[in-house]
Amino acid sequence: MTTIFSKIIQGQLPAEKVFENARILAIKDLHPVAPVHILIMPKKNIPDLQSLEEEDLPLLQEIFLVAKRLAKEFKVENGYRFLTNNGPLAGQTIFHLHFHLIGGKQLTHGLG
Ligand code: 5GP
Repeated sequence: MTTIFSKIIQGQLPAEKVFENARILAIKDLHPVAPVHILIMPKKNIPDLQSLEEEDLPLLQEIFLVAKRLAKEFKVENGYRFLTNNGPLAGQTIFHLHFHLIGGKQLTHGLG
């Protein structure tokens, strides 16, 4: 499926990139909910976490390490949230797997 994120990955739409390698892209969220709000995604077209296959696990490992690195770079390593929304009921709006790295303020307790 073509999504906004696959177009960003292919360079057809602009985004503020904060990390990129051959497999992973991290961009600033267009509508940040906190001073730091970064989206980290695989370049591979995976719609959501439920679509993940065992062969994709190295991508997840790398995404977590990129999150750790960006948390330090953006000085939120002492408090941030790292999550993915899976499916419409969870609030997923773009069906290309991505993880939100959110921090830079006191985050409210509770996720529901
Ligand atoms: P979801 O709701 O799927 O978990 O997260 C999608 C995120 O993408 C939202 O936080 C939304 O603000 C962000 N977003 C939507 N459109 C764009 C865009 O064109 N560029 C960027 N950088 N972020 C976007």
